[in-house]
Amino acid sequence: MNVLIVYAHPEPRSLNGALKDLAVSHLTARGHSVRVSDLYAMDWKATADGGDFLHHQAGEKLTYRLASKGAFADGSQSPDIAAEQEKLLWAQAVLFQFPLWWFSMPAILKGWVDRVFAAGFAYGVGVHEGERWGDRYGEGTLAGRRAMLSVTMGGRAPHYSERGVNGAVDDLLFPIQHGVLFYPGMEVLPPFTAYQVDRLKAEEWHPIAEAFKARLDGLFTDAPIAFRRQNGGHYDGQQVLKPGLGQGASGTRIHVHAPDELASRG
Ligand code: FAD
Repeated sequence: MNVLIVYAHPEPRSLNGALKDLAVSHLTARGHSVRVSDLYAMDWKATADGGDFLHHQAGEKLTYRLASKGAFADGSQSPDIAAEQEKLLWAQAVLFQFPLWWFSMPAILKGWVDRVFAAGFAYGVGVHEGERWGDRYGEGTLAGRRAMLSVTMGGRAPHYSERGVNGAVDDLLFPIQHGVLFYPGMEVLPPFTAYQVDRLKAEEWHPIAEAFKARLDGLFTDAPIAFRRQNGGHYDGQQVLKPGLGQGASGTRIHVHAPDELASRG
């Protein structure tokens, strides 16, 4: 299978670098084809601006969404953006390796999303008419692909537990896992997380590496997070979850199937 690793860390000898290297070697040894977008090594341009579109004139008013849509449609995106889109279409699974920085992804990775997940490619896909809000949340250009976050954190696991002071990790990662990855159609696996890593001792690497390898082995078989599909009958015409669903849950959790809900709802 084809696996794209999108890796965001400035230091190759970092823990994140070691996890990325492990993913490459382990997946390759299992017979997968692996490509890596090493964003710092690529000197990835993180800022979205008029330079992303070959036909954009200096001084011309920029409406980024419309420029993105036009350039995607007529093939006039900046070549670095088109190259990353090609990698995403090639991939059957995408692994994101990054440290949690300010409760989210590093800016360079956010800039990769902003620019690569273009209009017509990752959003604004499908019919938008009446109560049809396009192909998104489980449908879209990247449907049929899997995604997994591999995130290292300085904070301790209890701080990220359900009642932890940092907020539950599922809630913190919801904007990425649901808003960025499920939105254009990817099936999102539960994240691989390594906590309290700034104090990691040499002997603690081995269990982390073994746990990570086990998750890599499940990349194509583990059950994804059971996010509700937008067009799966869960939401009303205004995209509000229908009464009776999500009972007992709150916040972002209502968008995940409860185990006792009928899987046949889609
Ligand atoms: P490194 O610094 O490279 O390594 C960490 C430890 O692992 C070191 O002790 C190193 O010796 C050891 N190590 C590295 N590689 C190996 C190896 N191959 N084998 C054995 N040991 C190894 N944390 C939070 O929890 N929440 C936040 O919101 C948050 N925001 C941050 C914002 C910024 C700007 C920064 C800089 C940090 C933030 N942190 C936060 C902490 C951050 O998540 C961690 O520093 C990061 O995850 C550590 O990953 P690293 O790859 O940089 O580790």
